Formats: sequence, C-alpha cells, structure tokens
Amino acid sequence: MEKFVGLNVRETVERVSALLGCSPTSAKVAVYFDKHDTLQHLRKEFLVPKIADLPLSDLSVVDGTKECIYLVGNSLGLQPRMARKYLEEELDKWAKTGVHGHTEGSRPWAWAENNIEDLMAQVVGAKTEEVALMNGLTVNLHLLMLSFYKPTTVRHKILLEDKAFPSDHYAAESQIRLRGFDPQQSMLLLSPRPGEETLRTEDILEVIEKEGESIALVMLSGVQYYTGQLFDMVAITETGQRKGCYVGFDCAHAVGNVELKLHDWGVDFACWCSYKYLNSGAGGLAGAFVHEKHKDTIKPVLLGWWGHDLKTRFQMNNVLELQPGVSGFRISNQPILLVCPLQASLEVFNMTTMQALRRKSILLTGYLEHLIQHYYAKDPAKSHKPHVHVITPSDPQQRGCQLSLSFCHPVRKVFQELEKRGVVCDMREPSVLRIAPVPLYNSFSDIHRFIKILGAALAAYQQP
Ligand SMILES: *Cc1c(COP(=O)(O)O)cnc(C)c1O
Repeated sequence: MEKFVGLNVRETVERVSALLGCSPTSAKVAVYFDKHDTLQHLRKEFLVPKIADLPLSDLSVVDGTKECIYLVGNSLGLQPRMARKYLEEELDKWAKTGVHGHTEGSRPWAWAENNIEDLMAQVVGAKTEEVALMNGLTVNLHLLMLSFYKPTTVRHKILLEDKAFPSDHYAAESQIRLRGFDPQQSMLLLSPRPGEETLRTEDILEVIEKEGESIALVMLSGVQYYTGQLFDMVAITETGQRKGCYVGFDCAHAVGNVELKLHDWGVDFACWCSYKYLNSGAGGLAGAFVHEKHKDTIKPVLLGWWGHDLKTRFQMNNVLELQPGVSGFRISNQPILLVCPLQASLEVFNMTTMQALRRKSILLTGYLEHLIQHYYAKDPAKSHKPHVHVITPSDPQQRGCQLSLSFCHPVRKVFQELEKRGVVCDMREPSVLRIAPVPLYNSFSDIHRFIKILGAALAAYQQP
C-alpha cells in the first residue's frame, strides 16, 4: 500500500477503484485492500464465530456456515486460538502435580502474570515495572484513586466526563464520599457544547485552566466508550499537571486500539480491562500503570502479601518489604486461569506493533466511514431516505477504530435485521449502533459485507 502514502481514505479508495477499473463501492476494492493487508494473517489467530452457532431464532435469510461479521471487539474481543491450549496446559498441570504448579512449568502460577507484563507494557507504551496485571478494572481504579486522590478543602474535585462509563462515575462518586466530601460539590463533570456530541479539546483544557486549583484529580477515559472519541491525552496530562492536578486515564477503550505512550506522556496513572480490544475473555485480568516518577513516593493504601517483594514473600515473617511503584499495589495472588487467555492474546499483539495496527485501523475505519457517507449521508433533497449520522469525530487523530452511528429512526429494528443476517454489533437505544472494526481480525471485506447488509436491513425496516 506504499503507493498510497499521503492520500486520505477517500483518495485511496478512488485510486484503487481506478486501478481496478471498478466503482469505488465495488467489493473488488475491499478484496484489493485485504490482499495488500500485511496484517491479514493475524485473523487466523482468533476464533471467529459461525453464524449458525449464534443464539438467534431467525437466521432464515443467510448462509449459516459462514463466519459472522464480528464488529463488537470494543465490547468483547474474540477468543485467541491459543487460549484453550494454554488453559488446558494449566488444568493438566493442576491435575497431575497439584500444588507443585505454583513453581513448576512454563507458567509457574506464583508469578505467571509477571511473565506477560513485558508484553502488556509494550501495548501501552510503558516500562515493564510500571505495569501490573491484577484484579478487575474498577477495582484497580479504586486502588489507584485511593493513592492519587488526596482531597483537601481547597483542592477536592475530580474532573470527569458527564457521560463517563457508569462504573467510573460510581467509583469517583464513592471515593469522594469516602473522604468525607460531597459529590455535588466535588464532581466536576464535562459536557459537550449544546448541540454537539463530543468534547472539544480546547474546552477540556479551558476547564482545567480555570478550575485547576480546585481539582485534585483529572480522571478521563482515553477513548470514550459511547462516542469513540480519542482524547488528547498529551495535552490534558500536560495542562492538568501544570495546574498541580494528578492526571489518570481509564484506558478500557484505548488499550489495544490506539497507540499509547503512557510513560513518555508522563501520565500519573492509568488502568484498563483486557476483555475488550485485548481479547482476554469476559472478566479477564485487568491492568494498572503507575508512572515510574512516583515509584518511591506514591504508596498503596490497601496492602496484601502480593505487594511484598517476591524474593522474601513466602518467608511469611509479617515484615512488609513493599515493592516499589505499581507492583506494591498488588494484593492477592492472580488467577492463572485468567493469565492464560491474556497471554494468548498479548502474544498475537507481539507479532506486530501498535503502530502497524493503527495504520491499518485508520484505513479500515476510514473505509467504513467512507461507505457510510456514500450511501447514508443526509440529503436534504431526499428527506424520506434513511440517513446515518456519525457521532464519532471525523478526524482519525481523534478516534480509535470505533464509529458510533446515529440513525434517523429507532434502531432496534435495524439492529435485529442486521443480527439475523450475521452481523454482531452493539446497540445503544434509542438510536445508536457502535461499530468497531478491529485491525487484528477484521477485514475490509467484513466492512463491505456489513455495508451491503445494512442496506438490506434498512430496506426491511422501511417495509410496513
Ligand atoms: C468496560 C469498562 C468498564 C468495566 O469495568 P469492569 O470493572 O471491567 O467491570 C469500566 N469503565 C470503562 C470506561 C469501561 O469501558
């Protein structure tokens, strides 16, 4: 694809269609992109569900033997092919050697998560010592806030999005109460301007500039789960810290989706789950990051034996030798059965780079956007024609792979029509579908098939 460097997606699609002598909307364009996709081989590292295996009552309209069009990796990533093998290895080890499994084999349970933290660190742009794999996301958010949210009567606010993910909202609210403050006074919520759907960077920065002295903690997401907006983490971190705030990010929708450089950006802390773009399976082992600049100064508030130095942890003398940095935040031993699928996925990430994935992602999502605009842009002359409005920013630098599509009518019927034609995506009533083409396993042909099926779904909708 080198010959298209410097062109935007529309120009690239036009150039390819001219080359092939077909229309820009032809499936041949998608096939061409797939043929030249240097990451195409990664799809076979995942198990793509067959349409016939989906729990749907009405599959009358499609060929069930085909793979579904899976566009919901933002909610639950696909199963890595090696996950089952690794799980079976550990179940076998348990069956055959019992407690010896703690220290034996290629994945000694007592430090198995440590063995994959270097892979994890690469995905988030951190040093290995800055990353811990442990607990669930919201649990980690709480543990980190206990140390980074230190409200005083002057500086007591947490800045977050008005429409933050509910768990983050509740976590912040309860942390504020825990310290004896009032969420009404101490939660500072950011909303888009009237009539707009996403936050402007300039507005976020302005609030931090104006209110910074009263803000203890800036706690935003990296990529917004609903709109798909990618925040300018560099500018937010820089501005927040200049005003004396700690700055942390919930990277649930950013990790494995966009390039992160948590270390270089100087982010104070971050946390993420691993079952979305990191494909570790429902409830998978979550991640936490604490910047190395805090390794000797920011201490965990809640302690457990897993925060004790591994070398002397099992001497059990009750004299804590706390590990520096994020490692000291570990409380319990980690479940090996969650380490296995995450290892399987991180090894696939390690076959490429986030930079290469992102390069494909920008074209893949741009191709989806291009086709949506082509078929469903609002046309004032044809107001009866169904149209689709993309909530997600059109600037690729301000989004990850997900597009949030807002429909002009209630979306449930469209969703059902898509579903019975083998499309798996996410619906947020009343009017939004979230579509996430994941560069690890989605193809350009998936996008083309999706667009054709969307046409059929909307046509079915219009029938009385
Ligand atoms: C998915 C998601 C969660 C889910 O939290 P869990 O603790 O993993 O259940 C929380 N916050 C955000 C922003 C998310 O996207």
